[in-house]
Amino acid sequence: MNKEIKYGGAYVPEMLWDTLRKLTEEFERAKKDEAFQSEFQDLLRNFSGRPTPLIFAARATADLGGLTGQGAKVYLKNEGANHTGAHKITHCLGQGLLAKRLGKSMLIAETGAGQHGVATATAAAKLGLECVVFMGSHDIKRQRPNVFLMERLGAKVVPVEYGSKTLKDAVNEALKFWMEHLDEAHYCIGSVLGPAPYPEMNRYFQSVIGREIRAELSERENKLPDAIVACVGGGSNAMGSFYDFIPEKSVRLIGVEAGGVGKKMGEHASRKIAGELGIFQGYKSLFLQTDEGQIAPTHSISAGLDYPGVGPELAELYTSGRVELTYATDAEAVSAVDYFAKLEGVISALESAHALAEVRKIAPKMPKNSIVVATLSGRGDKDLFNFARAFKDESFREFLKDEYNRYE
Ligand SMILES: *Cc1c(COP(=O)(O)O)cnc(C)c1O
Repeated sequence: MNKEIKYGGAYVPEMLWDTLRKLTEEFERAKKDEAFQSEFQDLLRNFSGRPTPLIFAARATADLGGLTGQGAKVYLKNEGANHTGAHKITHCLGQGLLAKRLGKSMLIAETGAGQHGVATATAAAKLGLECVVFMGSHDIKRQRPNVFLMERLGAKVVPVEYGSKTLKDAVNEALKFWMEHLDEAHYCIGSVLGPAPYPEMNRYFQSVIGREIRAELSERENKLPDAIVACVGGGSNAMGSFYDFIPEKSVRLIGVEAGGVGKKMGEHASRKIAGELGIFQGYKSLFLQTDEGQIAPTHSISAGLDYPGVGPELAELYTSGRVELTYATDAEAVSAVDYFAKLEGVISALESAHALAEVRKIAPKMPKNSIVVATLSGRGDKDLFNFARAFKDESFREFLKDEYNRYE
């Protein structure tokens, strides 16, 4: 049955078929159920803080040439204004509600940098579900602040001590635990990835981003944008931003991947540069692979884009030509954070800064009065230490030492 599928599918052990079928059915029911819709909308509005603002970046627009001469007007869709600081909370809340409808008592997740773990732990606490997060022991050491936050939110963080002790090992361990606890646990996947129905389900939850962009822009400008730009890790903020505009052929949809530090395998995480069709973690899509067909190592300054695969719906839109992919380097992303911080008072997450870097490249070439919307998938608080390192701020080292000593 999977043979006909170009992208996506559900390539999982037979043990999971029944669980995925029930999840699919519940998702279809929930879509049509007013009680589900109103509970989800209430959480988005009164817990997460939606709708998120669409910021007119007036000073950046002027600096990039718009308003007076050639150049697009720049708008920023600020998903960083969401509770927990990024778009991720939206699909965690949606999945948490579905888990409860399925009679589950627990959300499980794997996390690399910890952002998905924090969003899942937040949704679980809010909805009264237990939460178990699997994390490579190497990542636990690197991401202490997020581990601490997950624990404060009541989640159990389970260290994974084998393999590279990072994200992919955490995925294996989470899957193993899931198969042993199928009745109680819902596996909360953190992007538009994994076996069906996860890619479609998470895109469905995130598509609120695009609908809000349309409504907010129509109120302000009374027209469609000419381009929407979003960063692409697994693709959830991008698919969420793009989905509503897929039928609007005049709107360019541009996904920006991690160009890292170079084009050699291991130096970036761009599926445009080197992605090939493969099957991994339960779905068929474009993956960065070695000559032997194993998953290749990736690099990005931003943890959220440092992933070898891409959501199957996005891969399909890319290969069909509807979505364009491009990339920004680590250095361009850091520079874009600084640019929009100083001109717009917005400190972007490093992931989102890849989209901002692309805006700096294309806005000046767009016609006068055209509009580009960049999705700011998250705010930069979480990247404090990365920024300090990128700007070679040595005083941070001293600050942390002093801060710690105060407790002794
Ligand atoms: C996780 C994350 C991403 C990448 O995930 P997508 O599924 O590609 O959206 C991007 N930006 C931020 C701020 C994130 O936390």
